[in-house]
Amino acid sequence: MRMTEFALADDLGPEKYIEVTDPDIGLKAIVVVDNTAAGPAIGGTRMAIDVTGSECFRLARAMTLKNAMAGLAHGGAKSVIAADPRMPAAQKSRLVNGFARAIKDVRDYIPGPDMGTDETTMAQVKAAIGRAVGLPREVGGIPLDEIGATGQGLVAALQAAQPFCSLRLRDAAFVVQGFGSVGQHAARLLGELGARLVGVSDSRGARVSEAGFDIAALRAIKARGGSVIDHEDGEAIAAAELVAVPCDVWIPAARPDVITAENVASMRTKVVAQGANIPATAAAERALASNGTLVLPDFVANAGGVICASVEFHNGSEQQAVRVIEERIKRNVVEVLNRVEATGDLPRDVAVAIARARVERAMSFRFKG
Ligand code: NAD
Repeated sequence: MRMTEFALADDLGPEKYIEVTDPDIGLKAIVVVDNTAAGPAIGGTRMAIDVTGSECFRLARAMTLKNAMAGLAHGGAKSVIAADPRMPAAQKSRLVNGFARAIKDVRDYIPGPDMGTDETTMAQVKAAIGRAVGLPREVGGIPLDEIGATGQGLVAALQAAQPFCSLRLRDAAFVVQGFGSVGQHAARLLGELGARLVGVSDSRGARVSEAGFDIAALRAIKARGGSVIDHEDGEAIAAAELVAVPCDVWIPAARPDVITAENVASMRTKVVAQGANIPATAAAERALASNGTLVLPDFVANAGGVICASVEFHNGSEQQAVRVIEERIKRNVVEVLNRVEATGDLPRDVAVAIARARVERAMSFRFKG
């Protein structure tokens, strides 16, 4: 670890901070194994030009807490490869192969897909070193984006939250920012429960419809490579206005930091169910709590993907994955919200405390002679 980065280390980790380079293939990568007390660490491999060591550490820590929260027998880790993921396929597979071989002996790290990598990348990693999650079906994977693992978890979180915020999904109005994998599956399942999608966006723009969109029609447009703005129902609004659309449930499922101190006062919703990672700033989460809006924090509500990956790693079936996602996330939401009611603390602070205590307990079993 670089001297300047020792400041990152605390009582949980990281256990390992490894830089790997290979000038022959232009490989520059970092692996952070944060904590393995609960078991070998699962965490995504992110490929982007501007990745940094401290970003990798923060993401690894987030995985430690997310995996502990989800009750998985896995610690947290992350890896980053500094490269443009849109490079030609042959060059990318050479890079991925070199990366995989370089981390072969970091056996307590199990890579998964993240920004800039996908199930093909993970199949290449598995072929090279024998371990990876988020794999295609043909090599033992449960395709988590195809089955909508994270969307399923998000909807389970909302079901469990209903009694805590007088929410009835059966006739709720909801908004989805980012109609991609997570957003589409959440919308599909909420629609099946009777809820109405009244606002939706993707990278090209946003639309609202008080009567509710035809979710299957929107998904068909996206499957053809179109945008939600191509749908003729409702009306177009500026993307920035989506935050202020009145609804019962607002689902961020795109980018970080979209709910901020600047726009939070315009929100008119009972619940923010965080599909995206860190979609709200800390100040915005405090403001939401003080005006009575319930936040279901990212690492509790969007753990469906990693729970699915863990079931896959242990050779479980798709049906088991669906069951475990629902059962774990509901149980965690109830535990977090009961404590929020008892203490008045922020849901995120309560959830971090629960996850941290689980990691510390796992660490307490280690030999200390
Ligand atoms: P995705 O690429 O399938 O979908 C993202 C969607 O957001 C796309 O429709 C895109 O057009 C839209 N988008 C991009 N920029 C936008 C903007 N500025 N405003 C509105 N929409 C915008 O990605 P995904 O897999 O659905 O992931 C969405 C978020 O959820 C990410 O933050 C990701 O880190 C997080 N997440 C995903 C999973 C998973 O299993 N896929 C698990 C946990 C967390």
